[in-house]
Amino acid sequence: MMKKKNFLILVTLCILIVGAFIATNMLAEPGLSQGISENDEANDILVADQQIFGPLEPPAPAEPEKEPFKVVIDPGHGGEDPGAEGASGSYEKDFTLAVSLKVASLLEDVPDIEAYMTRDKDVFLSSETRDRPNFANELEADLFISIHANTFADPTVSGTETFYYHDHSLGLANIIHRHVAKATGFRDRGVSQENFFVLRDTTMPATLLEIGYLTNPADEQTMLTEEFQQAVAEAIVDGIKEYLGL
Ligand code: ZN
Repeated sequence: MMKKKNFLILVTLCILIVGAFIATNMLAEPGLSQGISENDEANDILVADQQIFGPLEPPAPAEPEKEPFKVVIDPGHGGEDPGAEGASGSYEKDFTLAVSLKVASLLEDVPDIEAYMTRDKDVFLSSETRDRPNFANELEADLFISIHANTFADPTVSGTETFYYHDHSLGLANIIHRHVAKATGFRDRGVSQENFFVLRDTTMPATLLEIGYLTNPADEQTMLTEEFQQAVAEAIVDGIKEYLGL
């Protein structure tokens, strides 16, 4: 049987514990000493936390979505306009489309770039209605890359040459040219200013690449290989990424 003294101590302890519990609740939320729902209790904890640690930090604003760079790839010629005719009878329009499709395909793997093509099949685009520059301007593209192959009466002429028109395009032309000239291994004919309408009428940095001379029989055979076209496409993409700082 429990001694009377011990019983009293136990009762006193119980009163103290219950009293402390009630006092704690009153302190945490003096206005709500009864009828506290579970939600209110959760709020109490939040209020208590704020009292101790100060106001909760407002949620950080979400990082603004970075717009991808829009890059327009322009395969020269097309449809009824075959462009240059190679030493073996190949057409410039087919070479430019083959390289351009490879460039666009590689650009699909670059997360910060959206690639667009002025044509992705053998169709004619009018220079009279300025279809190519209009496409890039309306898109508000960041870069415009026109891909061509060269022609000359003398079949021994060889080389890679790059053009720009507006001063703001020189940086782009220089960087892409360095990559492409290295990839072709042809004579480096440098970067020149030229009044081509696709360069003149585009508002963004724009460059036109003459990858090589299809009229040079040896160069043409090289240019028609899958390996060469892939290497040139990779060089163009490397140049684009370097220019954009990617
Ligand atoms: Zn051309």
